[in-house]
Amino acid sequence: MKLNLNIQPLSTWLNTGKEPLVIAGPCSAETEDQLVATAHLLAKTGKVSALRAGIWKPRTRPGEFEGIGSIGLEWLKRAKEETGLPTAIEVATGKHVEEALKSGVDILWVGARSTVNPFTVQEIADALQGVDVPVMVKNPVNPDLSLWIGALERINRAGITKLAAIHRGFSSFGNTTFRNEPMWDLAISLKTHAPELPIINDPSHITGNRDLIGYVAQKAFDLDMQGVMIESHIDPAVAWTDAKQQVTPAALADIIDNITLRKPDVKSAEVSDKLAELRAKIDKIDDLVIQKVAERMNIAEQIGQYKKDNDITILQVNRWEEILQKRIPYANALKLSAEFTEKLLELVHAESIRRQAEILNAGQEQPAEKLSHV
Ligand code: PEP
Ligand code: MN
Repeated sequence: MKLNLNIQPLSTWLNTGKEPLVIAGPCSAETEDQLVATAHLLAKTGKVSALRAGIWKPRTRPGEFEGIGSIGLEWLKRAKEETGLPTAIEVATGKHVEEALKSGVDILWVGARSTVNPFTVQEIADALQGVDVPVMVKNPVNPDLSLWIGALERINRAGITKLAAIHRGFSSFGNTTFRNEPMWDLAISLKTHAPELPIINDPSHITGNRDLIGYVAQKAFDLDMQGVMIESHIDPAVAWTDAKQQVTPAALADIIDNITLRKPDVKSAEVSDKLAELRAKIDKIDDLVIQKVAERMNIAEQIGQYKKDNDITILQVNRWEEILQKRIPYANALKLSAEFTEKLLELVHAESIRRQAEILNAGQEQPAEKLSHV
């Protein structure tokens, strides 16, 4: 399904001449000195296209620093006057939009906690009616592509054509490497729905850890995202919010210097021949994988019939454990990780079980149930 978004190219509202494209600035505007000094250092790197700062901060717990508020807009104005950098802030209410526009903020973004709520997004969209300002929409906190798309559509329908998405990862339960799981497939899926929509990656909020920012930024560019938004603070250790994921402007410059930009299109005929040859091999293997999975399903159905004739339950836990115990060492020997192999087998096994249930309960269609961990 293609989305019907009316969008102007990124280059109409952001200096995309700098490669790679970087939006940077502190998580929060804290003091006038902190913001202006950070802005000067960022501008001096020559690698930054826009200055970001949080003025109103959505915090998980009350009593935490909730942003410096409207006074920060004055500091931002000064930072822009002195550095020439266009400015970007998060807006979460119609009033934020009004104040931001009044003080000349150049780019607005909708935060992850706002994107989850269509009422909030609509309030922001209503305040944007008839205004020509670029807006970026962060993905919602939860991994729901429709919510992300819906928010983009609401803003676009308000007449905002300078539109981009920000991929900042999705919250998940338990301890993981990242603060917010990137779930790259969701961002890729957005790209296939709206190929003309620029996607900016936010490695700071994905990683929650400054040491991993370069890794995630590189991956974003490798997946053909258009730019990155990275939190940068003159003295990250004492930042009032998100201290662990901010970098000094000098460290930011290092991260950017280490990015390799690869081309989305293959130019040379030689390279493209090689790629076509390798892709043809992959195509053949994919066909074989599908054929073999279909054969496996046929056998699973025969087993289903046997279980029905002999009144045996579909799931026999021992058998499933036996499958895992046999396959995982084999897969490991072929350099496939246990985690990947288990996920793959679970997916195939779940479909086998669904088909067997269909046979056991003939006539009743079985819905494909989503596995919680796949
Ligand atoms: C931020 O950009 O500082 C922020 C609050 O991000 P998110 O909405 O992605 O959590
Ligand atoms: Mn932040």
